[in-house]
Parts: sequence; C-alpha cells; structure tokens
Amino acid sequence: MDLLLQSCDLITAFLLIYGLKRMSSPVTASSGIVLAGIGMMVVTLASFLYVFGVSGEARTHLPVNLLLGGLALILGVGWSWWRGHRVPLTAMPQMVALYNGMGGAAAGAISAMELLAHPDASNVRLAITIAGGFIGSFSFSGSLIAWAKLEGKLPKPWRPRFLQLGNGLVLLLAVASATALPALLPNENLLALFFLCSFAFGALITLPIGGADMPVVISLCNACTGIAVGFEGYVLHHPALMIAGTVVGAAGSLLTLLMARAMNRSLGNILFSNFGETGQEEAQVTGQLKPISAEDAAATLCYARKMIFVPGYGLAAAHAQRKLYELAKRLQEEGADVKFAIHPVAGRMPGHMDVLLAEAGVPYEMIVGLDEINGEFPTTDVALVVGANDIVNPAARTDKGSPIYGMPILDVDKAHQVYVIKRGQGKGYAGIENALFTADNCRMVYGDAQEVLGQMLLSIKELVGQR
Ligand code: NAP
Repeated sequence: MDLLLQSCDLITAFLLIYGLKRMSSPVTASSGIVLAGIGMMVVTLASFLYVFGVSGEARTHLPVNLLLGGLALILGVGWSWWRGHRVPLTAMPQMVALYNGMGGAAAGAISAMELLAHPDASNVRLAITIAGGFIGSFSFSGSLIAWAKLEGKLPKPWRPRFLQLGNGLVLLLAVASATALPALLPNENLLALFFLCSFAFGALITLPIGGADMPVVISLCNACTGIAVGFEGYVLHHPALMIAGTVVGAAGSLLTLLMARAMNRSLGNILFSNFGETGQEEAQVTGQLKPISAEDAAATLCYARKMIFVPGYGLAAAHAQRKLYELAKRLQEEGADVKFAIHPVAGRMPGHMDVLLAEAGVPYEMIVGLDEINGEFPTTDVALVVGANDIVNPAARTDKGSPIYGMPILDVDKAHQVYVIKRGQGKGYAGIENALFTADNCRMVYGDAQEVLGQMLLSIKELVGQR
C-alpha cells in the first residue's frame, strides 16, 4: 500500500511540474492544464487509500469520515464543473480569486485542526503549522475582498485615516498570539484570536487597494495560498500536497514579481502602501474627441504599410478576437506589416490577451511584448487600439497625480495615426480620463469592437475590389 501511495505522489509531482512547464507557452498551455488536473485527480483519489492503514479508535470514525470526504468531493467537483463551464472569460479573475481563497481557507482549517489535535508536537512542526494557518487565513480574506472588488460589490477603495496604524496593531496581535500559542495550546480562545487577527489582517491590507493594482493582489494571494498549502503538506506528511503547494507558491511569487515590475512597483510598496494613492491632484484632460467612421478608418488602414494592433479588455468583452485576426490577415494579404502589442496587465487577468489571441489562432511570431514593441511605435503608420484604455494612457508617463503614474504603457501616442475602437466615453479599469483620446493624431471609432471590426473588414474588401 505504501508503495502504491508513494507512486501516486510521484506521478502527481511529475504531472504538476510538467503541466506547469507546458503552461508557459500559449501553444501547449491547454494540455498543461489537463495534465496538472489529472495529477490533482490521481492524488485526491489516492488519499482515499489511506483508510486501509487506519486502526484503533480512528477506525470507528471511518464511515462518517468517508461519507464526509465523499460528500465534499461531490460538492466541490460538481460546483466547479458547473461553474467552470459557465464562467465567461472576462469573469475568470474573480473565479481565480475565489479558488485561491478556498485553498487558503483549507490550509487554515488544517492548521486549526492540527494545532488542537497535536498540541504537544515539536516546536518546528508547531511553528510551520501556525505559519501555514496565518498565511492561509490571510490569503482567504484577501482573496474574498479581491473577488468582491472585481465583482463590483466593493467598488471604492476604503482608505480611512488610521488604517495603516490599525493594520500594524492587528498584525502585532496576530504575531503575539502566534508566539504564545505553542505554550498555551490547546487554548481555544487564543487560537480563535490568532485566526481572527490573521483573517482581519488579510482583509484590512486588501481593502484600500484600488484602481489598476488588483492583478498583483490576486497573484500575491495565489502565492500565499500555495505556500500555506505547502506548509500544511509538511505537517500532514503528505508529499504531493507539499509539492503542489511549493509549485503554486513559487509560480505565484514569480508572477507577483513580474506583475509588480510590469506596473513599476516594488513588492514593499505593494505590501505596505495604499495602492493607487498619490497624494497629488490628477491633471485635467482638455481637448476635443474626434470621431471617425469605421469605413474612413478602414480606408487609411488599406494604405498603411506598418500597423500595430493593441488589444485590451474591450476586445475580450466584445469576443472580437477572431474578427481582429481576420482583419490582420486581410491587411497582410495587401502587403502590410501587422503586429499585436501585448501589455502584461491588459484585460482582467495576467496573460488575458495572450489567451484570447491564441484562441483566435494568431501566430506567436505576430505577438510582441511591451518592452520590445515600444521602440517601434514612432515608425508605425497606424496603431489600432481595440477596447484598451489604461494600458495606453500617457498620464502614466507624465502625470504624477495619476493613480497609474509610473506604470509602463504601450506608447501608441507616438504612432503617426492612432484609431481607438470603443463604445463611447467609458473609462478604463482605473476610472481615469485618457489624454490619448484627445491627442491630435488620434481619432475615435465608436461602437462595439465586434461590429466595428466587421464593418472595417467589409469596407476593406470593397476598397480592394474597386482597385
Ligand atoms: P481598460 O482600461 O479596462 O479599458 C477597457 C476599455 O474597453 C473601456 O474604456 C471601454 O470603453 C472599452 N470597452 C468595453 N467593452 C467594449 C466593447 N464591447 N467594445 C469596444 N470597447 C469596449 O482595459 P485595458 O486597457 O486592457 O487595461 C486593463 C486594466 O485592468 C488595467 O488598469 C489593469 O491594471 C486592470 N486589471 C488588469 C488585470 C490583469 O491581470 N490583466 C486584472 C485586474 C485589473 P467603453 O465603455 O467606452 O466602450
């Protein structure tokens, strides 16, 4: 039996690591997700084999425990299967935040049960159990707040005057109760205080975060959940749980660092300052918006030689990725050089645009990242912005009062001509005005991205036919 369990752990470890490796490219990502899912299934089913080793008093609880385990599995698998099929791609970050939160809660629950069941464990084991409990509870409440914000249930950042001081006190209380726990276990009141403070700290540190900084928070919570699960895997002597937690923790930490770099923030700034708060007045945007019809914009595209397409959240909302690629192919047939520029936080989740474009079949060679493409805008005839706003807002470069000041952006304003497809005068995720839209070289093509791109395609066909 031991050999079988260890083999399952080994298979799972291999599938998780290899699956993650395949997720690093959009071409192989789907199969990577399936492989990692199979790994999770193997280890979950294998955990039922542990019942064969149960003896003594624990055996009397076996039927109830098996029933509870089975029920939990049916509920968990059933709900996620049903939800996973229905969730729109634009609501994926909320779902990821919720799953992160559940992982953190599970790690916190394991920690609480272990502390009560084994109060006389070694100091190292107690310390790891407590650390996992703190990180898991922190990640649980932080993820729930992130979910509520992304769902629009908590629209405004909450920043009362003495919040930082309050955070510090709650953290101090959590650390003090954690330090006292090993000596006073199984004191349930102290345990409750410790979990309450850990939970409150996660919520309080996430509540003031607003605007464009949510992706970093979700990624951070993801990393924390992984670390907490890894710690509890050690406590339960469960190698697969340790490996899964470590992999998620490491991947999440790297992603957090990459996202922080993409938004030009240090991790210290992420953890200990009020995101998006500058203390200065935001500059007013002046000037006129200059609308243009899809047909007229298409005529310019027909004669342009070098073009960069900049997709944003609106492309995902309009499900227009296939139309956009169709347009690119049509223009390429006319001899144009077309590229897609991807900003790391475009859309609503890390890699959102990569996933969309891969789904539409855009070849990887046509997709260029921010650092590489920015130098090309000054020599570009037309930059076509489709449903993007914050990621092309020049205020990030120039306006110290802007909540997105310092965030690297795609320099579309440096192209000879810019067309922006959006439905109206709606703001982006950060809720701020965009000076690009009133710039001399920018024209607005109003309408749903799907419809506008369709009209552009039709116009181009007609124009080419008349030549
Ligand atoms: P954005 O700033 O949210 O702007 C999207 C624009 O798309 C809006 O101004 C909207 O204007 C337009 N739009 C919406 N539906 C449309 C449709 N059907 N057709 C055409 N246009 C449509 O998006 P972004 O430039 O991609 O920037 C992403 C923002 O989200 C950043 O602030 C980022 O920090 C934040 N964020 C990112 C992540 C991530 O991980 N990527 C996660 C959470 C938050 P109209 O209403 O006028 O149409």
